[in-house]
Amino acid sequence: MSADCIFCKIIKRELDADIVYEDEYAVAFKDINPAAPVHILIVPREHIPTIMDVEKSNEKLIGHLHLVANEVARAFKLGKKGYRLVINCGADAGQIVFHLHLHLLGGRPLLQTIAKGRGV
Ligand code: AMP
Ligand code: ZN
Repeated sequence: MSADCIFCKIIKRELDADIVYEDEYAVAFKDINPAAPVHILIVPREHIPTIMDVEKSNEKLIGHLHLVANEVARAFKLGKKGYRLVINCGADAGQIVFHLHLHLLGGRPLLQTIAKGRGV
């Protein structure tokens, strides 16, 4: 846990969020500034700043986050139409919250681009 991390605060329930899923290892909540009709963030409970910081010991956790994403996608009825998972890493990707997270985006056709931001 990192004291000044907003996602750690959400995980510890010190900050409000619309939590849609949680288990022993992960929490998923709605993005406060959604870029698509469905925009959920899937985060590990463990504070890992970026995907570059994961280690061999985190291998199962990274797989688990993807299974959680699939489960959340199914719960939001995106299974048939599809969705996009995005991980931003560092400054050039525009990462603004340095607690590893997967963006789950769906609910409308997404641009055929890997660009980040409101244009996703
Ligand atoms: P990234 O650019 O990948 O670091 O994305 C961080 C995301 O976190 C952005 O899409 C923000 O809208 C979202 N966000 C920031 N603060 C909150 C919050 N308190 N609750 C939910 N989502 C948030
Ligand atoms: Zn954190």
